[in-house]
Amino acid sequence: MAFETKEQVLEKILSQEKPHCPYCKEEMQLWEVPDIAMGDGLGWGTPYLYICFNEACSLYNQGWENVRQNWAHKASYRCMCYPGTDQFECIPVFSPEGGKGQVIDDKVLAAQEELKEAIKRGFSILADLYVSKDWLEILRLLMDATEPTRVRLKAAEMIGDLGELEAIEPLKNLRVGNQRLQEQMETAVQKIHERYFTRECPFCAEIIKRRASICKHCGKEVAGE
Ligand SMILES: [Zn+2]
Ligand SMILES: [Zn+2]
Repeated sequence: MAFETKEQVLEKILSQEKPHCPYCKEEMQLWEVPDIAMGDGLGWGTPYLYICFNEACSLYNQGWENVRQNWAHKASYRCMCYPGTDQFECIPVFSPEGGKGQVIDDKVLAAQEELKEAIKRGFSILADLYVSKDWLEILRLLMDATEPTRVRLKAAEMIGDLGELEAIEPLKNLRVGNQRLQEQMETAVQKIHERYFTRECPFCAEIIKRRASICKHCGKEVAGE
């Protein structure tokens, strides 16, 4: 679990069937655990839970009365479930609205669907470009900030395989917000250098032969490797 990103966890959860509340038989809603609960040691060890937000749920309705009688508090509980299991537990709520802000509604799911489609589309375009070795077009896709990160990561990987020396300059000048993508681009530059037996001059940053002893651009002595 620790090595999965939140998106991967969500994708896996969405591919499984939604659980039904054992108390009211209603379909439960996917709920994003607030960061504050994750960080304070009270976390549930998962970024998402299923919760029954049915106002007519017997557990929830009787909860107000039970809590008042036993602890003289104004609170109740809702039924929760760990995604992918049939492990049901109670989660306390302090108002009818409690926790509803974290419900992942249809709008979020629609955005998630759209992203999935964009990734699928991007991967199929990349596959064609890879076959035709069109690294320039792959580079264009990589530089397009509107493409999903996963598509851009794949593009960077492919440029490492196919890119010519001219790809190095734009790769080195491109700054992206995602660190993994930035690293993937650096890896691509290294792979291109390896394929062309080149490296970067430590003084002027121009591309030189790996075994060169004098840089042909700045004339400085660059001990061969
Ligand atoms: Zn219920
Ligand atoms: Zn130089």
